[in-house]
Amino acid sequence: MKLEKKDVLFVIAVSAVYCSLAAGFSLVSTVLPDKTVLTNPIAHGSLNLREIIGHFAWGVVAAIVTLRVRYILLGGFLAVLIDADHLIGLLHVEGIQRMGHSITFAVISVVVLMIVFRKNDYRLGVIVGTSILTHISYDIFSTESGFPILTPFVNKIIEFPREDWIIFEIAAIAIIGIVSVLVTKKESISSTFVR
Ligand SMILES: [Zn+2]
Repeated sequence: MKLEKKDVLFVIAVSAVYCSLAAGFSLVSTVLPDKTVLTNPIAHGSLNLREIIGHFAWGVVAAIVTLRVRYILLGGFLAVLIDADHLIGLLHVEGIQRMGHSITFAVISVVVLMIVFRKNDYRLGVIVGTSILTHISYDIFSTESGFPILTPFVNKIIEFPREDWIIFEIAAIAIIGIVSVLVTKKESISSTFVR
């Protein structure tokens, strides 16, 4: 496992697109029903160092099963960057808190990132899609327990008991593991064909 310059560029580019997407997606909430006054993320203290390190660690741990440095780093960065959906709180508008913490965002981000980067990069797809799981896992573990999982269809905040954090993390590891094994198998089959 080594980190080359192209991996660094890839991680930065994917992170930048993902971060803008999370911030952009949260703007959708300004036109949804059930919106409320958003809290300022800085005043609320939701962007502190402990949170960032925690989210990064949870993401990295799940992504280790890919055995590829670029995806392991992305696992960490994307799990942190979902919280870009808090930035809307700086705009003093009404909306829904934590829009990125939803299934819809997971689906949209997988589709967009795979179109923007490589359509057949399934490892990227699975890291993007499961970032919401590792992120929510740490959120539940540390402080937050309610998320608009089904937004924009149902805008109710769904609460999870604290012990559920392990279920989210294990689900992420399992999904990333299965996809990685399948992709590695497919690659080894096609490389024997080339030979
Ligand atoms: Zn969060």
